[in-house]
Amino acid sequence: MTDSTLTTTKPIYLIAPTPTGLTLAEQLLPAIDGAALWSGATSELAVAWHAGKQLVFFLTVGATVRLIAPLLDHKASDPGVVVVDEGGTFAISLSGGHRGGADVLTEQIAALLGATAVITSASRHKRLPSVDLLGKPYGWVPGADSEWNRVAAVVVRGLPVQVVQTSGQTLWRSALPAEHPFVFGETDAEARLWISERLPSTGVPTVCWHPRVLWLGVGCERGTPAQVLEQAVRSVLTNNGLAIEAVAGIATVTLKHDEAGLLALAQKFDWPLRFFEPVTLAGQPVPHPSTTVEHCIGTPSVAEAAAMLAGDTSSLLAAKQIFRVQGAGACTVAVAVAEVEYNSNPGALVLVGTGPGALDQITPAARAAIARADVVIGYALYIDLLRPLLSGTQVVEASPITQEVARAERAIALSYRGLQVVVVSSGDSGIYGMAGLVLERLAARGWDGDCPALTVLPGITALQAAAARVGAPLMHDFCAISLSDLLTPWPLIERRLAAAAQADFVVALYNPRSLRRTAQIEQARCILLTHRDAATPVALVRSAYRPDECVTLSTLAEFASEQVDMLTTVLIGNSSTFRHGPLLITPRGYPTAIQDVEDIPDGVANQ
Ligand code: SAH
Repeated sequence: MTDSTLTTTKPIYLIAPTPTGLTLAEQLLPAIDGAALWSGATSELAVAWHAGKQLVFFLTVGATVRLIAPLLDHKASDPGVVVVDEGGTFAISLSGGHRGGADVLTEQIAALLGATAVITSASRHKRLPSVDLLGKPYGWVPGADSEWNRVAAVVVRGLPVQVVQTSGQTLWRSALPAEHPFVFGETDAEARLWISERLPSTGVPTVCWHPRVLWLGVGCERGTPAQVLEQAVRSVLTNNGLAIEAVAGIATVTLKHDEAGLLALAQKFDWPLRFFEPVTLAGQPVPHPSTTVEHCIGTPSVAEAAAMLAGDTSSLLAAKQIFRVQGAGACTVAVAVAEVEYNSNPGALVLVGTGPGALDQITPAARAAIARADVVIGYALYIDLLRPLLSGTQVVEASPITQEVARAERAIALSYRGLQVVVVSSGDSGIYGMAGLVLERLAARGWDGDCPALTVLPGITALQAAAARVGAPLMHDFCAISLSDLLTPWPLIERRLAAAAQADFVVALYNPRSLRRTAQIEQARCILLTHRDAATPVALVRSAYRPDECVTLSTLAEFASEQVDMLTTVLIGNSSTFRHGPLLITPRGYPTAIQDVEDIPDGVANQ
């Protein structure tokens, strides 16, 4: 995909003027969502600068600085700029680290290339949230008069910052490190973080984030122009001390689906419009019903009822006010506050397999997804293994092993709220991992296939990790069987064991034995012995690629089942698997099959 024209999708432009840089850029292209190669000349860079959300230069830092210097304007509007050296050794966040998103993109690119991320933002090294990024995941809108630099300087110096939060998610607080400068409640602070639908009072230097919780219920006479509607809305908001940035959207009656003024107003502010049928509005009790309106359109209220329905609340922050401009129409406006903010971010659910445990067994794609995540959810043990990859400002929810359903529901709920959610499983997420459960729940919720965006990223599963530790035991057809009968009836597991034994599959046993479930591994041994030699090689691989890894080689008749636990994968050879020193080797073919010429090219092709 190349693009040198203005686009509405605001892509990430990869700019590679040299052949070496271009090769690198082309390799990265498919792995970065929204990335396009910039095909224009560097002299046309101004177009990319204004069209792109982020620019990635495959050049020297010096050349990049010279190219962008004339274009730099303000950090609130400049795109994020990342530089990757032509050798792919470093990814450098050059400018727009926070609001331009360059820091996060740098982490993502470094993860994909196995490069070192160079990030110099002060708050990042203190593992503190950047005040100018804080509300972004939740779709909050930054307040116009915020003093970003002054407040950021206070945060970095560790001086007290008062937090006033009256609406929006409080999730960001759970990501704060033990030592942080934020004070919740009254205090003599050097600066203030104001998170509210209200406008701040004057005083200490303040940064504002406005969660989009205000639903404007609007009714109007046919033909009322957008300017009149805007004036009315602004006046209701100002009279109530409310910020226009906190508006979630407009709610009205279905009859207004083609009301030009309303449509224009919604478009101007990028507000969603929600329409309710008269009968639905009529069912909503309101403080100021009107019999005239009821007579005309079949509901006693439009503005108040629509605001309350859209805000999913039974009260109003501002009761309806009527505005009439002689000869230019009339409207009513009411305001309700929703408990949950409207988030225009699309939300994403990424199901990530993180491999057996060691950091170097995680795929670059998984690392990049973790680097981009707003929230990382997983079983506490796996989250601990991943700690070095977490930014410290991401929300991390680690839960005990038994809480898979709660974890799946939580991940889905947060992704529907517009957050980038990564759910981690050890090994592969789709092999006895979280993927099945999350997707089942997502389907049950009627997922539309689109929003939240869904990605499943593969990981190295336990049987591959265990096999690699003992050589090449899976060289021929193999199968995985879980011995856990918590979700599968035991007779079915027995049938599978017998079938696998009979068909001479190499067998990998997952979940082989827990403190409580001790009998199954013995029963599995008995079933396998009815079809397989007592001397069949067996490997017990415990905690593969983790610090406490332990590998034991034995035979089907003799392996000690007490050595097997829930951290172990048991590999059982087929009839031709043999042991050589520390290795288990399953030949690629059976002796008789070698005669079959058809098989040889196939075997070669598949190596
Ligand atoms: N999704 C995981 C499997 C989870 S089921 C994957 O694809 O690997 C849990 C079982 O996996 C454990 O009981 C054990 O049998 C196996 N297992 C997971 N990690 C392991 C490791 N590092 N070493 C050995 N076995 C492991």
